[in-house]
Amino acid sequence: MSGAIRMVDVIDRKRLGEALTEGEIAAVVADFTAGRIPDYQMAALLMAIVCRGMSAAETTALTLAMARSGELLDLSDIAPVVADKHSTGGVGDKTTLVVAPVVAACGVHVGKMSGRGLAHTGGTIDKLESIDGFTATLPADRFRALLRAHRLVLAGQSAELAPADGLIYALRDATATVQSIPLIASSIMSKKLAAGATAILLDVKVGRGAFMTTLAEARALAELMVAIGQGAGRRTRAVLSAMDQPLGRAVGNALEVAEAVATLRGQGPADFADLCRHEAGALLALAGAARDAAEGERMAAAAVASGAALATFAACVAAQGGDARQVEQPARLPAAPVVVEVASPRAGWLAGIDALQIGRLAMRLGGGRQRKGDPIDHRVGLVLWAKVGDRLAAGDPLVAVHAARAEDAAALRDDLLAAYAWSDAPVAAPPLLLGEVG
Ligand code: URA
Repeated sequence: MSGAIRMVDVIDRKRLGEALTEGEIAAVVADFTAGRIPDYQMAALLMAIVCRGMSAAETTALTLAMARSGELLDLSDIAPVVADKHSTGGVGDKTTLVVAPVVAACGVHVGKMSGRGLAHTGGTIDKLESIDGFTATLPADRFRALLRAHRLVLAGQSAELAPADGLIYALRDATATVQSIPLIASSIMSKKLAAGATAILLDVKVGRGAFMTTLAEARALAELMVAIGQGAGRRTRAVLSAMDQPLGRAVGNALEVAEAVATLRGQGPADFADLCRHEAGALLALAGAARDAAEGERMAAAAVASGAALATFAACVAAQGGDARQVEQPARLPAAPVVVEVASPRAGWLAGIDALQIGRLAMRLGGGRQRKGDPIDHRVGLVLWAKVGDRLAAGDPLVAVHAARAEDAAALRDDLLAAYAWSDAPVAAPPLLLGEVG
């Protein structure tokens, strides 16, 4: 490690719950990015942070150090306002694939920097890579050129943009160090600051399938990220949304792209379509393109109805090397060779679908990583035919399991049914929007 700081001492100080200095944090991030700190030491520090936490000042220092690990884009020569949205991670959360093109179709530049799957949650980049040829690894000049030409760019961390986040993210995914307010806040906000967004909408997920399982924790994370964004001079706002059951119906990379395309055609599941319209409206208002969120929602609905949002998405995919025919005709997306329908084992009202368990089952099918750098199977996943509040008869379709092999589908049947809770009395569909910050 550079200078007089020894990594083992930094780890030890955090293990004891001490606050790290800005200088220590900057040195750790710079040295880890340069390959001078081995994964095992960084993983130990991450675990100490998960267990002992960080103050707001430490988290801000970590965010800025991670953002500065690469280039800091200034996009003001391309557009006065560049919008971005980011979710803290959920199951079936393909919101970006709809909100980003809708907002871009309404005239606002969207320069989006996304991540890969983390733990049991999916990642936008993994979903987009279901599309043949799509690349999210973009050098900074390409990011700028695509944003200028198409008003929409969907990128991941690269060697130039927030490389520290790319490296730390992959390590967290494989070391059970995802669930931490300072690590999530710094990961998300470093990407937002590096990619030059000036209007940032955050979607902080709350519930069984989210990293924040209580509203109080989610609000604390939202307030911290909004403070970091606003402190860096960016318009920043957060929505708190429910993640007890998966969002929409599809869970799995290519399946989620297909559902996002259906939603861009105005044919998506109601819960998912409503959240997308709400977020697009809020982001259009934050970016100053709409007088308020209600006007933004009307603009978003019009961009879907006219086909402009879908055309914007297809153009972005093509510009990033992807096969746009797979967006226009999702039946061309990679498909699992085996689809097994699981029927409802009983009559009644659906009272719960455990999003954590559903996310883990989608990973077990091969849709997520067990170890850093593992390949994923974009074809596999689950389609939930019923949601909480629906009434079913015994034998009604419940879930379609898309698997690489029949044995994979058979092996998870019992665990899949165990993710469902039932009621003999009517159950109301739970609210999706739980609050706003900023
Ligand atoms: N999304 C991110 O980009 N980082 C996290 O840590 C969690 C969700």
